Amino acid sequence: MIIVERSLYQIVGHGRSEQREIGVTTVLREMTGRVAVVTGGNKGIGFAIVKALCQQYDGSVYLTARDTTRGTNAVKELEKQGFKPKFHQLDITDDDSITKFRDYLRSTYGGLDVLVNNAAIAFKVKATEPFEVQAEETLRVNYFSLRKVCTILYPLLRPHARVVHVSSSAGRLCNITGKALKQKLADPNLTETELDTIMQEFVDAAKSGKHLEVGWSNSSYHASKIGVSALAGIHQTMFNADPREDIAVNAVHPGYVDTDMTSHTGPLTPEEGAIAPVYCALLPENTEIKGKYIWFDKTLSNWK
Ligand code: NAP
Repeated sequence: MIIVERSLYQIVGHGRSEQREIGVTTVLREMTGRVAVVTGGNKGIGFAIVKALCQQYDGSVYLTARDTTRGTNAVKELEKQGFKPKFHQLDITDDDSITKFRDYLRSTYGGLDVLVNNAAIAFKVKATEPFEVQAEETLRVNYFSLRKVCTILYPLLRPHARVVHVSSSAGRLCNITGKALKQKLADPNLTETELDTIMQEFVDAAKSGKHLEVGWSNSSYHASKIGVSALAGIHQTMFNADPREDIAVNAVHPGYVDTDMTSHTGPLTPEEGAIAPVYCALLPENTEIKGKYIWFDKTLSNWK
């Protein structure tokens, strides 16, 4: 596919600045090939996913990061190792950043083929922030921002696109106690809006100190990742009714990995942690693995 762009030139003269179109500069840019995007790619499992995709994916691979310096340094590191990822800034909590990236992808590639939602945060056990602060921030980043990235980027997905929500073993219902709460989260007819409400109710319960009473655990990370696991099934149901054929969305537990998030206590290397997310990102056409929860050894598991 070929696109034609018009260029505007900024002209400064006589103490004032004016913008004028000089003739019609046409830039012919070929919108080549397929494109994969990894959020939070500057370190840890995300970095290893980018590396593995550079090795295995037939298309452009975008390492994205909220911080441009950290992101471009990570790209340089991979270049030293002989890989050629591309870079774009992406802060998943910033609507403007997501929208700019969406526009860039649309004008450069005309679509999107692989989206790995990897970026997330976890407060340390020793963190001194009050629980309600941790709850609000963890849900804001891990659930609501991931959700926003999907809302903004999903219109770009092409047929056969693959979406990976990096969840966790923490994202299973066995980590919480409330029977009614579990039933609501496990409902196959649960909608995105209803899930948003449940996630917001967790934050509100944390603020009023009632989160245990209503069936959550004492971990905001658990709540956020249960939301991420549930989102994969909901998104798959949406895509099953979408005219774009064969889009697959899966949630994955990458294993317990040696990264900053775990203070380097996990036994798996980041490369080992990348195996299941990359497997989900590269599922073949017309795969039956859709709307599932995948364990780090690539087996089908159950978060409900
Ligand atoms: P990590 O080393 O802490 O890396 C997290 C990445 O997310 C970093 O690149 C970080 O960027 C990025 N990030 C955080 N907030 C962001 C934002 N607002 N916008 C864009 N990027 C943002 O963590 P990890 O261990 O590699 O974890 C990767 C994924 O695996 C997460 O979803 C995590 O929950 C999941 N997971 C990890 C383990 C484990 O054992 N490590 C287990 C289960 C699940 P900065 O460098 O700028 O902070």
